Formats: sequence, C-alpha cells, structure tokens
Amino acid sequence: MVPGSMDLLVRGGTVVTCDEHDRVFEGDVLVRDGVIVALGPDAAASAKKPHRVLDAVGCAVIPGFVQAHVHLVQVLFRGMADDLPLLAWLKERIWPLEAAHDEASLRASAELGLLELLRHGTTTILDMGTTHGHEVVLDAIDRFGLRARSGKAMMDLGEGVPARLRERTEDSLREVEAHARAFAAHPRVRVAVSPRFILSCSERLIREGALLAREHRMLVHTHAAEHAAERTAVRELLGDDDITLLARWGATGPNTVLAHGVQLDPREMNALADAGTRVAHCPSANLKLGSGIAQVHAMRRAGVVVGLGADGAPCNNNLDALTELRHAALLSKARAGTDTLPAREALRLATIDGARVLGMEREIGSLETGKRGDLVCIDLGGVHAEPGGDAVSRVVYACRASDVRHVVLDGAVRVRSGEVLDLDADEILATARVEARKTRARAGI
Ligand SMILES: [Zn+2]
Repeated sequence: MVPGSMDLLVRGGTVVTCDEHDRVFEGDVLVRDGVIVALGPDAAASAKKPHRVLDAVGCAVIPGFVQAHVHLVQVLFRGMADDLPLLAWLKERIWPLEAAHDEASLRASAELGLLELLRHGTTTILDMGTTHGHEVVLDAIDRFGLRARSGKAMMDLGEGVPARLRERTEDSLREVEAHARAFAAHPRVRVAVSPRFILSCSERLIREGALLAREHRMLVHTHAAEHAAERTAVRELLGDDDITLLARWGATGPNTVLAHGVQLDPREMNALADAGTRVAHCPSANLKLGSGIAQVHAMRRAGVVVGLGADGAPCNNNLDALTELRHAALLSKARAGTDTLPAREALRLATIDGARVLGMEREIGSLETGKRGDLVCIDLGGVHAEPGGDAVSRVVYACRASDVRHVVLDGAVRVRSGEVLDLDADEILATARVEARKTRARAGI
C-alpha cells in the first residue's frame, strides 16, 4: 500500500487530535507522503496542487484506532464458543479449533479479521496467533497494509493443550526468532514474542523469550491476571501469582504487554507501574467470559499505561474499537465512579495510550505534524448521534462501527464512504464461511 503521491487534504471535519493538550477544532488535516504535515483552518493553503480531497464535513476526524490485544486466528470461530468461562472456553473450544487450523483456514481467519478491523477504523494492532502456521498470518497483515505487532502463540506445556499445539521449547523460540528476522526491516510490521499465558508456558520459554525480545527489540505479549479460576490454578501449580512470576522470569518492563489484568491488586498495579509494564484492557471479553471488570481507573491512577483491545471474535464477538471504547467508559463508572474515564480519556485508551502500550507513540496515536497519516472520519450525522453536543462524547457514547465513513492508513485512503477500496470483501467473506465450516468439522465441535 504505497501512500498516494499527491497530497491528501481531509477537509471540513471536527479534528480530535488526542495530542498532549487534547485539542479539538474545526478544520483540515493535510497528509503528504504518508505523514501529517499540517492541521487546522489554514492547512488547505499548504496543500500542493493538484491534491486529493477527502470530505470530512459532519465527521469527527480522529487518530486511527490502536487495538492492543487481538487474535486474528480466532476470527473464524465467531459464534462457536459462547457462554463458557475462560479455562473451559480454551480447553473445550478454542484450543481444539486452533489445533484444527490449516494454512487455508488461518489465511481466511486473518483476512476476515483484518477486513473487519480496517472497515471500522482500526489501523494498528497487537496480535497473538496460534502455535503453527504464523507465516500465513504475517503475510496477510503485510498484504492488507495494517500496522501490526504480531507473534505466534508459544505453548510448551499445559493441562488440556492438544498435542498439535504443544511445542518443544527450543522449536518455539527458534521459530519466533526466524519470524523476527524476516520482519526486522518491515515498514509497518514487527514480530512480538507471545507466550500464551503462564499455564501453557515453561519458565525457560518465558525467560528465553524475554531475552529474545530484548535482543531483537520486540514486545513481549501475554495474558495475565484474567480470571479468578485461572489465578487459583496458577497459585496451585506454581505457588505464586503470574504477575510476580512473569516479572521474576524477565517478562516485565515497557516492552511487555499484559492482556486483561482484571485480577490485579493494588500492590501488583504499583509493581507494574514501577516497571513500566503495559496493560491491554479488553472489556467485552472480560464481560463475556465472566472474568470481571478491570480496575482501569485505579491502574491509570497508579501510573500504569493502559490500552484497549477487542481480544478474540469468539469472546466478544466483534473486533470493533468503538464498542470497546463505550464499554470501557461505562464500566469504569460502575467500578470506580461516574466521573472516571470521561469520553476524552476513554478515547485516549484506543489512540495515543494504545500507541504507548506498543511503544509507537512517536509514530502514531495522535493527529500532530510529523506523525504517520493514520486517521478515521466518523460520521456524526446518524439519528443515534445527533443533534449536537460534544463531538468526542458522541464518538465514545453514541457512535457505532457503521458510522466509520473514511479510513486513511499511512496516507492512503483505504475506506471511502464506508467502502473498503482495495479489498474484495465478498470474496473474503465467502472464503471465510467455507473455511469456518471445514475447521469446525475438523475440530469435531
Ligand atoms: Zn486474548
């Protein structure tokens, strides 16, 4: 996806910058060679002629959404794993389905997920795959043009793990290293070291994975402190909590992203804040698996950098950043008080704070000159979002995925007036339906 050679003027919207002053103004955004070069009422005057124009009248123009925890390989399993708690959900549905994946189904799952994400305004993801075939997922991410940190799931032990998903420790590490080398110079994609969770990983896998991440400047991405029953199982098996053990084994610090953190106590929040360890909040998944409500307000007050993610399609069941935003904001009010996580702060979770979670805040996450041209125009004109009021409030509390009108990624218009321009959505959907049926049959579910 080469950014257009002509300047792109995103004209006439309400620009929500998510910059350090949270500036919101009526005006334009000018993108040149994939980079934001001007914003404001005078941006049009800086545009070289001829230039492309994207009509944003009636829209909020916001940074592209950053989702700090998703699973592209699980998109095919949507509607196949409902109404189960975490460990049963994994053992009875997700692991057998992942074990049944072949190259064609992995490709179909990743492509449908990427299509859904892009169509609804997500331009950057942190993604965890399954143990095998991750080259297919990385290839799909590359072809679809999203920005991503993505890694195969690493699993070298664990009760209930199907044989197909269980790896030799050494093989898992070497495979991740090979992926890391293959994507070391990619303009948008990097590999992330992704031990699935502490119940499916040996101490050696996590220790050496963390070292590998440091050596190749990668993120470590894992699940932690998600469900109470999981926490009990971790204590029984390992004699301590996963937060403490992960830190002891080297999975700690600003390059480490922990998905969930629902069960964190104040001492653990302080430890994560002191180390700079990041957390990805996944409110829909936490609700659907009955894991609880993460203490986002307390985490942020302690100094933890928190992003937002949809997690997997079978525990959500969408990959829609706007749904996660609304859930995050509403749940915070129930958990910590009505005045917590107001709309502007909630939006930051899915933009600039998400970028900080991924260590990408100098490139993306806000609309400022010098940042990459990733932005979303959200139509505020739906009957469910009118007749006025604060634009950010309308985005967070009222708008829906279908309100995403345009998506610009790296300066290229990828979605215009609700249509994904350069992907065959019908073909992707048709293939995904076939592969979902076949995968389910192979899994015997
Ligand atoms: Zn997950």
